[in-house]
Amino acid sequence: MLSTEENIQIKQAIEAAELHTSGEIRVFMDIAIEGEVLDRAAEVFKELEMHKTAERNGVLIYLSMESKKFAIIGDAGINTKVPLNFWEEIKTEMQASFKEGKFAQGLLRAIDAAGKALGTYFPRSENDVDELPNDVVYR
Ligand code: CA
Ligand code: CA
Repeated sequence: MLSTEENIQIKQAIEAAELHTSGEIRVFMDIAIEGEVLDRAAEVFKELEMHKTAERNGVLIYLSMESKKFAIIGDAGINTKVPLNFWEEIKTEMQASFKEGKFAQGLLRAIDAAGKALGTYFPRSENDVDELPNDVVYR
């Protein structure tokens, strides 16, 4: 699990990323799961109502440490903009950190990469609303 300090670091990284974009990033830490990680991530995406952002530009970083599974998925709005292999590339980077047991580092790298993409395609407007909370969500 992540330490208190790491949870704060992640929240601050999301806040920092969202300073440059209207997009919304969330991190979800699940318990052990069975079945396909992408199906589960899609389910969580809905549960957290991440499909309700105005520009459909929410990004979910999903992780089940117990099952050693993770995924990163974006909503329809961002998926029409980023290259096809975009999430895969971020996943590869995260995996490198996770393999060394550096979970917080992997998450921070993913937040940074997702934030940069969101910033490119969905710049923040002056009257931006924080549509989704920035803290790490635990099941
Ligand atoms: Ca926002
Ligand atoms: Ca947010």
